[in-house]
Amino acid sequence: MKFSRSEEEWKRALTPEQYRVLREKGTEKPFTGSLLANKEEGVYRCAGCGQDLFRSRSKYESGSGWPSFHIPAKEGAVEARQDLALGISRTEILCSRCGGHLGHVFDDGPNPTGLRYCVNSAALEFEAAQKKKD
Ligand code: FE
Repeated sequence: MKFSRSEEEWKRALTPEQYRVLREKGTEKPFTGSLLANKEEGVYRCAGCGQDLFRSRSKYESGSGWPSFHIPAKEGAVEARQDLALGISRTEILCSRCGGHLGHVFDDGPNPTGLRYCVNSAALEFEAAQKKKD
C-alpha cells in the first residue's frame, strides 16, 4: 500500500459516510448513492486517496442500485480479495493505493469483461471531463 493514514487522520479527512464505507467496509443503501444516476463523462476517483479507479465509459445500468462498471480505469487500480463476511463467498474490491473498501465484483456483468464492479458512491469522487471549447 502506497498511501496510509492513522485511523484518526482518516476520520478527519473523510465524511462519516465515506469513513463507514471505505474504512469499515460499510455498504450504502441501494438506490441512495449520489453517483448512481450520474451519466456525465469523466473519471471516478477514490474518495480516500484520489487514485483513478473507473471511467464513465465503463459505467452501465446494472439495476443493482449501486454504481456499476465493467472494468477499472487501469490495471492494478483495484484489488480483489475473498470476503466471507455474510457466510457466502464474495469478492471484495479495494483501492490498491490506500486499501479503501469500494464494494464487490460479480461475474454477471456485460461484455467484454463479463464483470460487474459494484461500487459504493461514498467510496468515489467524480470529476467531469473538460468540455471541449468551440
Ligand atoms: Fe484509495
